[in-house]
Amino acid sequence: MKDEKILKAKDIVKEATSITVLTGAGISAESGVPTFRGKDGLWKNFRPEDLATPQAFARNPKLVWEWYEWRRKLVKEARPNPGHLALVKLEEEKPKFTLITQNVDGLHKMAGNKNIVELHGNLWQIRCTRCGSVEEDFNVPLEKIPPECKKCGGIGRPNVVWFGEIIPMSIIERAIKSIKECQVMLIVGTSGVVEPAASLGLLAKQTGKVVIEVNLEPTLNSTLYDLTILGKSGEVLPLIVY
Ligand code: NAD
Ligand code: ZN
Repeated sequence: MKDEKILKAKDIVKEATSITVLTGAGISAESGVPTFRGKDGLWKNFRPEDLATPQAFARNPKLVWEWYEWRRKLVKEARPNPGHLALVKLEEEKPKFTLITQNVDGLHKMAGNKNIVELHGNLWQIRCTRCGSVEEDFNVPLEKIPPECKKCGGIGRPNVVWFGEIIPMSIIERAIKSIKECQVMLIVGTSGVVEPAASLGLLAKQTGKVVIEVNLEPTLNSTLYDLTILGKSGEVLPLIVY
């Protein structure tokens, strides 16, 4: 697959000393974690948009937790793939490196990346809806759903950002800063349908950065970017990085 675009991307990445990467569900697909819009993304025929909302949780916390239990089980069995590992190598090589992810699966951390901005939170953290405290819990299944807060007995929810919720400002600011300060941005495995992915790519272009996209198919934003490489991230990223 060593075509011209890959060689070009390899050169651009090699020259850069400051890189920001944005990843979406696509990078974990080859680890067996389904994307929301892929063929295995539905659970019991519910669309994610009908479950990953504060309204759905208020209506039926047990149902939302059952879905999360299913997702936590999938992710627990998953391991980082060559795409994740290539990004670890990139972080080791570059003086400045930030990995912004929309994923909640924790696979980048498991792979060994350090400077990670988790835009949408993390599946392994539970946040109390009453006192706000956050606990990590890797048990699958959980002792009880919905789980109870150890501090105050309130109901716990996944510490993820749901549709209609706002990403904490401190997290957005870290992502924006890393884009403003980088030379090259890589956008991997995200459809760009869910904000802020589209805006972050746009910001990179508006501030004069070279943007390289890796995806199975062209996205709504591909025409904005300098280079779109079509292929599996687990195959393309190692070709660019090693
Ligand atoms: P998405 O499901 O909207 O898009 C996934 C993108 O990845 C698509 O454009 C698809 O073409 C591409 N893709 C699929 N397989 C690929 C591969 N092997 N290599 C390269 N590209 C591939 O996902 P999104 O844009 O990340 O947004 C969905 C939202 O869902 C996010 O908010 C995220 O929090 C959540 N989500 C997370 C996970 C996870 O943590 N692994 C999984 C599903 C959904
Ligand atoms: Zn509590």
